[in-house]
Amino acid sequence: MSAYLDNAATTRVCPQAAQAALEVMTEGFGNPSSGYAPGRAAAARLEEDRAVLARRLGCAPGEVTFLSCGTEGDNWAIRAAVRRGKRTGRHIITTAIEHSAVLEPVKDLAAQGYEVTYLKPDRTGHVCIDDLRAALRPDTVLVSMMLVNNELGTLQPVAEAAQLLRDTGSQALLHCDAVQAFLKVPFTPSALGVDVLTISGHKVRAPKGIGAQYIRSGLDLPPLLLGGGQERGLRPGTEPTAQAAALAAACEAWPDGAPEQIAAVKEYALETLASVPGLEIVSRGDAPHICAVSLPGYPSEMLVRDLSDMGVYVSSGSACHKGKPSHVFAALGLPKRTLMGILRVSFSPESTREEVDALRDGLLHITQTRIAMR
Ligand code: PLP
Repeated sequence: MSAYLDNAATTRVCPQAAQAALEVMTEGFGNPSSGYAPGRAAAARLEEDRAVLARRLGCAPGEVTFLSCGTEGDNWAIRAAVRRGKRTGRHIITTAIEHSAVLEPVKDLAAQGYEVTYLKPDRTGHVCIDDLRAALRPDTVLVSMMLVNNELGTLQPVAEAAQLLRDTGSQALLHCDAVQAFLKVPFTPSALGVDVLTISGHKVRAPKGIGAQYIRSGLDLPPLLLGGGQERGLRPGTEPTAQAAALAAACEAWPDGAPEQIAAVKEYALETLASVPGLEIVSRGDAPHICAVSLPGYPSEMLVRDLSDMGVYVSSGSACHKGKPSHVFAALGLPKRTLMGILRVSFSPESTREEVDALRDGLLHITQTRIAMR
């Protein structure tokens, strides 16, 4: 039996999503911009799929723009925010634990002369709203804060950030990377109070190559790409109709009780893995699907390789890049031995207790057969 416990990296496409994509690719394949019947049918189907996604997000269909992935959405929000705010200033606030899809474009802007404040997390992986209050300036044009951290599973205070921006009359655009939050934690963009919010399909059992941007109605966000007038001119390029159909189908197929069901498997994992000698829990995760543990003395990359040989798949992935701990875990100020032995374990509605048992057995085998480093 194999155990796939890296669902924060990507998920298996669900049959309903695969079927919807197949139908659109082979039958409903018209170009939505074409005026004849197959084109009009494709355009109508795309709007139905947009409506499904909007219902799941809790927003109006007109506030949803399809795009290729979370990375595109994050880049777009950031670049658009600074263009929009060019008369207001050149100060950006984000967190030290964002995904590189946020940190890299921000770094690029810093190289162009923008000033960036990175909010640091506390030891539990949460950023503090008082730090945002202290960082906020009249020339701040963008605050970008993720809702769920992809390595720790921690929830960040996005709604409080929105309230603070309102209270202080800030001109800054509030962007939220909700790639790991969508369908896992309850939220709507309007209840959070964000201007722009990014999601990605492949984290929720849709295929890779589809994401969506929520753009608050009334907000004039300049496009990232220029071209034809697709997606109301906001995201030109022939629409990814099959992927959009798959994302809508994945949303409809997402079980109602999924967060509770996933959380129960994670709780089981945290209990079960405690029987592995020396194992430390680094983050229990506020979100139901992500936790992080460490086996000090056993380098993450070796653990991932050995577990993989036993058919058990977890991540050091973003946790440990080329022997260097990720910026997220490094930001927690953990001891080096803990830092070097971190594994991220992440779940989907398909995850089972048997998979968790396989992970525990794999780790027990490693601790019994390999000598820990000092
Ligand atoms: N943001 C977060 C929090 C993520 O976890 C990821 C992917 O791991 C991304 C952005 C990038 O999304 P995509 O893979 O769709 O480009």
